[in-house]
Amino acid sequence: MGKNYHEYLWVGGGLDTNFSCMNIPGRTIWKEIIKAGKMADDTGASFSSSFSKKLGNGNTILFWDEIWCGSERLGDTFHRLYMLESNKDATVADRIINVNSTSTSNWCWVRPPRGRALNEILELNNLISSVTLTDQSDSWKFNLDSTGIYTTKTLSQIINNLKLGIHASAILIQRNKFTPQKVNFFAWRVIQRKIPIRVELDKRGIDLDTILCPLCDTDTETIDHTFVTCPKTSQIRELILTWWSQAITSITNLGDVIINNQSFTSNNIGSSLWQATKWIVCYIIWKHRNLKVLLKKEWSPATIVSEIQTQSYSWISKRSKKKKPIEWQQWLINPSSYVVTSSHRVGVG
Ligand SMILES: [Zn+2]
Repeated sequence: MGKNYHEYLWVGGGLDTNFSCMNIPGRTIWKEIIKAGKMADDTGASFSSSFSKKLGNGNTILFWDEIWCGSERLGDTFHRLYMLESNKDATVADRIINVNSTSTSNWCWVRPPRGRALNEILELNNLISSVTLTDQSDSWKFNLDSTGIYTTKTLSQIINNLKLGIHASAILIQRNKFTPQKVNFFAWRVIQRKIPIRVELDKRGIDLDTILCPLCDTDTETIDHTFVTCPKTSQIRELILTWWSQAITSITNLGDVIINNQSFTSNNIGSSLWQATKWIVCYIIWKHRNLKVLLKKEWSPATIVSEIQTQSYSWISKRSKKKKPIEWQQWLINPSSYVVTSSHRVGVG
């Protein structure tokens, strides 16, 4: 543990009375934390990803290699850009600079990004546009509690909830094995409301021409508007629900979009497939929102739905078991047939 002892104890304190850092030597505490963490992992709470660096001035956090923004290393999420990075050890302060209180990227590539790497730049720029550097030093944050402070009480509460099958909080959405990491990461950001949506950028004092939703130009752009109530999203969603033989009323709020899988509760695969599809829908809606902002280009809901069908097939079929491959025709005509088990037909219709 050595000189980093204090850092591992999440400087800034908040360790509760069950766990006083004043009375117990650090090594014991660390051992206890790891023990508790293993219990948490066993119950489904991913302890290894429970801690992240909390951004201050960005001087000590590695931009690509540490988890400081979202739930994954940016080097994993934006793999193509990571390969082009000239200094893999660049800190956040090296790559993000504040100009007139707006965060701007400061890239240094070994060669100019092109092709798919350009898409990654769009996404990454979008992501970091909502990041603000401060004068404070960087610190650690416990992700499983909304306060960001680690206590054994919080951890045991989470474990108990998980044992009872209750999600401790929206933060604990589990990785969906049918979607790429970037889609998992995106869903996590949506439920965390960490998307650079116009109304939030406006609140932070960023000067925008408009705070209207770029997809429909009729209402203020909020997270709930974009993924739930926007007329364009609603048209896309209706087509998707029909495609999946789901009731049009089955999605009414952000939780339904990201977390709830009421339709296929007694079937894990079905629930995961449907969730994967819903996350891909969000991902592609956001992509089209960005295309509209940046390139002023617009596609019809039907075309976007075709893209969702093709893209979801490509991602999901690649990740499904070889024993039970997903066929394109069947995926296109009746995807919910993949959630029917031999003994039990679930949630269709
Ligand atoms: Zn809209």
